[in-house]
Parts: sequence; C-alpha cells; structure tokens
Amino acid sequence: MSDLPSHARVVIIGGGAVGASTLYHLAKMGCSDAVLLEKNELTSGSTWHAAGNCPTFSGSWNMMKLQRYSADLFARLADDVDYPMNYHRTGSIRIAQSDARMAEFRHVASMAGYQGMDYEVLGVNEVKDRYPFLELHDLKGGLWDPMDGDIDPAQLTQAYAKGARDLGAKVVRFCAVTGLSQLPSGEWKVESEKGTVIAEKVVNAAGYRAAEIGRMVGRDVPTVAMSHQYLVTEEIPELAALDHKVPLLRDPDDSYYLRQEGKGLILGPYEWQATPHWLDGMPDDFSFQLYPDDLDRLEWYIEQACARVPMLGSGGVQRVINGPIP
Ligand SMILES: Cc1cc2nc3c(=O)[nH]c(=O)nc-3n(C[C@H](O)[C@H](O)[C@H](O)COP(=O)(O)OP(=O)(O)OC[C@H]3O[C@@H](n4cnc5c(N)ncnc54)[C@H](O)[C@@H]3O)c2cc1C
Repeated sequence: MSDLPSHARVVIIGGGAVGASTLYHLAKMGCSDAVLLEKNELTSGSTWHAAGNCPTFSGSWNMMKLQRYSADLFARLADDVDYPMNYHRTGSIRIAQSDARMAEFRHVASMAGYQGMDYEVLGVNEVKDRYPFLELHDLKGGLWDPMDGDIDPAQLTQAYAKGARDLGAKVVRFCAVTGLSQLPSGEWKVESEKGTVIAEKVVNAAGYRAAEIGRMVGRDVPTVAMSHQYLVTEEIPELAALDHKVPLLRDPDDSYYLRQEGKGLILGPYEWQATPHWLDGMPDDFSFQLYPDDLDRLEWYIEQACARVPMLGSGGVQRVINGPIP
C-alpha cells in the first residue's frame, strides 16, 4: 500500500539538502502536515557529492544572517535530532591580493561584528602565522572567519529528514512528481508515481530539475545545470605530520578554496568561464551520477594554488568530482 497521503498542507518536491531542510523547519514551526516527495533516494541530486563547505562570509547582510543561522544550527543539530554527523568548524582564512579586497574584508568584518561574530582582519605576517604552508607573493593581508567549516551534506540531509519525521512530517522516496496543476479552489494537485496529493502549498526544491517542475505549471524557472568540479589529493606528508586540521583557505582573487580532507587537500575552483551542461535536455535520471572529469579546465587554478601552497603539488590527484549544480 502506498504511504502517500491524499492531502497535505505542504508538499515539497525534492529530497536534497534544501527540501529536507524545508521539511524540518516547517515541522519545527508546527506544520507537520507536510510531505516530501523524492524521485530517487534522499541526496541523490547535487547534495551527495557537494564538498560541504559552509561559510558565514557574505557581502549581503541577510545572506550572512542566514549562513550564521546555519552554522549555529549545524553545531547543535546532531544532538537536537539524535543523528550523529561530521561537522568541523575549522575557521577559514581569506587572502587578499589587492587593497580593494582588503577594504571589502574590513567592511564584511564590521558587518560580522554587528551580527556577533569575531572576524579578524589580518596582516600578511598574521596570515602566515595561521597558515604556515602559504607563500606570500602579491598578498596584502587576509580575513579570519572563525565559524567557517564543513559538514557532510548527506548526513545533514538525513538528520533533517529524521528530525522532521520525528515531528510527524512524511518523506516518500522513489516517488517522482509527474504533474502539477492548480485547482479552482486554489489548492494544488500533485501527481506522482505513487498517486495524487492535494496540497495547499507546493515547494519546488528539485535542484537542477527545478525548471522541469516549473514547466508543469507553465512557469519558466530560469536555471541551467552547470558542471562544477573539485579534486581531492592523496596524503600530503606535511598534513600527515600534524595533529590538527589546518583552516580552510579561500582565495577570492584567484577564485578557489583549499580544504584539508583527511591527510590530503580538496582544491575547489570557482571557474570564471563556468560550463553549462545539458543545454539540449536532461536525461530522465541522473541520480548519484557524475560527469566525466575535466581537469584541463582547472589547469590555471591548479597552477595558482600550487604556487600559493606548494605542498599541494606533492599529493597526486586521488579523485575528481564533477557534478551538476543549478
Ligand atoms: C562539485 C560540487 C561541489 C559543491 N560544493 C558545495 C559546497 O562546498 N558548499 C555548498 O554549500 N554547496 C556546494 N555545492 C552545491 C550543492 O551541492 C547544492 O547547492 C545543493 O546540494 C543543492 O541542494 P538541493 O536540495 O537544492 O538540490 P539537489 O540535491 O539536487 O536535490 C534535488 C532533489 O530533487 C529531486 N527531484 C528532481 N525532480 C524531481 C521530481 N520530479 N519529483 C521528485 N523529486 C525530484 C532529485 O532527485 C534530487 O534529489 C556543490 C556542488 C557541486 C556540483
């Protein structure tokens, strides 16, 4: 028998980090008459392969507030919902290669101060003190974000789902939404592989498939799936010798981050020339799949990062993750 209810106050389409978080927060606010429909397994879209970095830094007051809320939540969620997860608050150093970047850092640091966070603007030598593996060419200084860190995105999603279920909300997996239409009453008819649900509200949390859901009701959701990559190195002797994790290093000028993962590093570039994928249409199913590696595209970023942190070059590439991001 299907576990799908015939009515729900809210239907959420998509069981990645965003859909599961929405379900959890609705349930926490007293709306447990909510059901999440996921076409495959939870996390099977972009969430399972995300690097999981979770900064608080932002030039926008509201984005900073949201990210600060998330960092606070991540620190207590495992206990709140009784679901253990890997969350590391390592702090991060952002480095600046221009005076304009330093001015931005001072601006964001004072915003952070108003939100109760102790960012620190650093001189070049202070950057080196906190990250001894760094070469200092072209640097003007840096910014310390004490709340930056990383979380396992699959565990986070499962924790949200458990917390929501414990409060009475429902998760139905392997249940693709196939049709969506509005009834004269204003309610929504959500058709799925397992039957129909009538809902007061529908949340489109379908990630890189959000446009498909939009098209069901004649809406153009202007998104495209981009191909986004990071690489993970093998063990690096300098890191293997440490008894603590080094902070996350972010270079917004050369546009990459470097994060310790085990005894190696993750290098994640934010490419200037981002590459769209599936412009001619998406496959029906891409759950838990990746695109082929495309390391040539990252060559310039790898060179910049190796010049900045030479030990990066001593660890061979263990694996590359190249996946869809909306
Ligand atoms: C290589 C890489 C690294 C990344 N690193 C980071 C990082 O360090 N930090 C960070 O914050 N973000 C990172 N991201 C981005 C992050 O992965 C996404 O922003 C996030 O996972 C999006 O979550 P989501 O819930 O919106 O989408 P998804 O995880 O894609 O979830 C959408 C879900 O909807 C389901 N769905 C789709 N259509 C239907 C349908 N018709 N019916 C039912 N269900 C449906 C899908 O199966 C899927 O499970 C990274 C992304 C990539 C590709």
